[in-house]
Amino acid sequence: MQSLTEGWMGWCFVSFLGLSVGSFANVVIHRVPREGLSLWKPARSLCPTCKRQLSWLDNVPLLSWLCLRGRCRYCSTKISARYLVVELLTGALFVAFWAQEIHGEQIAWTPLLVGWVMASLCVIVSAIDLEHFIIPDVITLPGIALGLLASLLIPQLHVDGVLFLAGEVGPIGGQPFVHGSSLLVALMGMLAGGGSLWLVGRLGNIMLRSQIEAAGVQDAMGLGDVKWMAFAGTILGPILVLEAILVGCFVGALVGIFLKIAARMSGRGGPVGLPFGPFLSVGILTELAWPGAAWRAMTWLAV
Ligand SMILES: [Zn+2]
Repeated sequence: MQSLTEGWMGWCFVSFLGLSVGSFANVVIHRVPREGLSLWKPARSLCPTCKRQLSWLDNVPLLSWLCLRGRCRYCSTKISARYLVVELLTGALFVAFWAQEIHGEQIAWTPLLVGWVMASLCVIVSAIDLEHFIIPDVITLPGIALGLLASLLIPQLHVDGVLFLAGEVGPIGGQPFVHGSSLLVALMGMLAGGGSLWLVGRLGNIMLRSQIEAAGVQDAMGLGDVKWMAFAGTILGPILVLEAILVGCFVGALVGIFLKIAARMSGRGGPVGLPFGPFLSVGILTELAWPGAAWRAMTWLAV
């Protein structure tokens, strides 16, 4: 039998898997922030406008949206392009992590599965944050618990982090692969990710007080972002999660400046409120795919 890493079969399978997970991500994105909807009820998707139950034909990833030209089959209401974007983005990220984690004949399953899970969550969280300006606790809090549990059960999650700390911190040295030390890295990651972002938020509140009051919002940054990065820290460990935040701030600042210039040039002023979650998610995925690359790039620029 041809192995998954040879030829086009593996790539097709991974693309289809990614598109299907993206299709499910759309359900999560639509239902989780809305009251009265759960992932299990209703079991079949409905058109939000005409409430007709959709058949499996309307739910084929990518193809349904394209065949129906982005409209409901029954009432012709426009279906948001978000559905297409989420499916394509999830599919692309699945393929990207696949490309990153096959080495010749070998597949690095642990980082691949972690990459796929985190990619799906990053897409979901970013889409919800863009639309509602929240990152739901039902995603981040169980995420933190699962991240810690996974670190205890799968020490390979934090091999790099443990080795790094073993060089710096005495007590772990000599036994870098015991389960407890992996959990320790995850706990430190949780504190580093959540704690540092919480501090940034406090600082932001002090520095941007007048703008925050003018905009009529409560905080420069919500606690949802803090919990999101506490979760990411359990997966990335303390060093990479700090890098992920730096990348997020950097990309967020770039996009913010770009939008401000675009708004001024088009003559449509007004403050553009940007959620932080999507930029933090870019940071998380960057660090998962290329651990430490952002830091190397920054130090290279600084020298
Ligand atoms: Zn409809």
